[in-house]
Amino acid sequence: MTTIPQPEVVSAGQAQFAVHNPATQEIIGTLPCMTASQIAVAVAEAARAQKRWAAVTVRDRLRILKRFGRILCDQKDTVAEVISREAGKPEAEALSTEILVVLDTVKYLSDYAPQFLLPERVPHGNPVMKLKRGTLLREPYGVVGIISPWNYPFSVPSVQTLAALAMGNAVVLKPSEFTPYSSLELRRLLVEAGLDGDLLQVITGDGAAGAALLNSGIHKIVFTGSVATGKRVAQAAAGRLLPVVLELGGKDPMIVLEDADLDVASSAAVWGAFMNAGQTCLSVERCYVHESIYEKFLEKCVAKTEKLRIGYSGAQPGAAVPHDVGPMIHQRQLQTVDGHVKDAIGRGARLLAGGTRLPELGPNFFAPTILADVDHSMTIMREETFGPALPVRSFKTEDEAVALANDSEFGLAASIFTGNRSRGEALARRIDAGTVMVNDVIACFGISEAPHGGVKASGIGRTHGRFGLEEMVWPKYVDSDSLPRMKKLWWYGYGPDFAQQMGGFVDLLFSGKLTKRVQGVLKSTQSYIRRRLI
Ligand code: NAD
Repeated sequence: MTTIPQPEVVSAGQAQFAVHNPATQEIIGTLPCMTASQIAVAVAEAARAQKRWAAVTVRDRLRILKRFGRILCDQKDTVAEVISREAGKPEAEALSTEILVVLDTVKYLSDYAPQFLLPERVPHGNPVMKLKRGTLLREPYGVVGIISPWNYPFSVPSVQTLAALAMGNAVVLKPSEFTPYSSLELRRLLVEAGLDGDLLQVITGDGAAGAALLNSGIHKIVFTGSVATGKRVAQAAAGRLLPVVLELGGKDPMIVLEDADLDVASSAAVWGAFMNAGQTCLSVERCYVHESIYEKFLEKCVAKTEKLRIGYSGAQPGAAVPHDVGPMIHQRQLQTVDGHVKDAIGRGARLLAGGTRLPELGPNFFAPTILADVDHSMTIMREETFGPALPVRSFKTEDEAVALANDSEFGLAASIFTGNRSRGEALARRIDAGTVMVNDVIACFGISEAPHGGVKASGIGRTHGRFGLEEMVWPKYVDSDSLPRMKKLWWYGYGPDFAQQMGGFVDLLFSGKLTKRVQGVLKSTQSYIRRRLI
């Protein structure tokens, strides 16, 4: 068992909250509900540290991140255990979908951040502006607030924190109250790698701590969580004109065309729907299969689902039983899944697998569930289920599949399975989603170069990749004129000559007629000579 890291701020008489293992209900530890004034102090400390950090070269900042990467690699099993214990996911998944993603981010930042932060030339098209030099600089915001969910308690906050730090920001991170220890691990490892501890403050507490962070002196907020909370965050941020990134929920469709490899597509659907007990923003939440392969596809999905091992290996230390699907995070989440499944069955869906709680394993376990013949009147096809459920229906034509996929308030990601890559890519263009994968699911989250984020109710802005880095900086445009001793011709000194000069100039630049353009040169030159600039 690993030692549990603790945040530094604990005052006598302070309210505390307990963190439970969702599989066993065991209390992992107790942490303080940090108050608004403690959060304000943490933000002020971070702001002071950021001034020093912004003066450090990007290469020196990256040296610390690379050391962090090496330490994380060495301590991967310890970190996986912390993640698994508080989120309930198999340790193998903690390695593949959390630690691997973070290590790849370190590599991506090391390779790409220096060139990203180089001053960028902005060429001028307008001939009058040719004697000016335009340069785009990217400045860190200062203190970036990060509010995180529980489903990827290590990778979601780490990727965002590392990007913010690499760009020269400090971070104040408010992890989910259900999974705070993974963020404390992140801070422990970064400090071990040489990061000034003040640069990454971890705020513990529930939604009230998140709300207090929004009201503190942060300069940007990156929020990942539900649509309902995202709206509250956006409202609070609007009051302060605080720039926001919102990474919200999804209802990701998977389309299986008739030329798809059925074995591959059914494995993808089962993994995409049940991985992390279906508690992934990029989970396969709806599946549309061509009518010619519908029944065969369902048969394969059911056979593969029956082979899944459900449980929690950490419950028996030393005699770990490998498992594929763990518990859900808490009862509220489980009730949502149960409600969606019951609603679908009540409206005529065919239950092919699961459909029930598994109390013999623990209160938070729900059997991986496959429902066929669903339709869009059912809650399970409209609202985010966020649990181990795979609702499937058939379609006749590509147009129908696209219409069904786009019939959603969400637009995070989608996937298309086909034997014809060009056909898949063409169809991808018609889907309203931040990411469309052809012949894979979810894996885009592990591609550090790929922007992550959605359209419609799935959010605003991006994390990951170049677009994610752009969110951690503000653009500063510097323009310098190469003729310091020359007054500019658009300055004061208005009158008939100015009007003639500008009229001629507009013709010169934009008239469709050659004669007018030539006349424009003459008019603007003559009037410029006559003009007296003030
Ligand atoms: P949630 O919205 O309940 O909580 C997210 C975070 O917000 C927590 O840290 C919580 O304490 C905090 N919070 C709650 N109320 C707040 C308030 N008023 N002000 C500020 N912060 C507040 O979400 P959750 O249940 O932790 O996570 C599940 C959701 O996250 C799902 O909808 C899932 O799709 C989404 N998610 C999205 C992505 C993505 O990248 N798009 C990734 C992971 C999870």
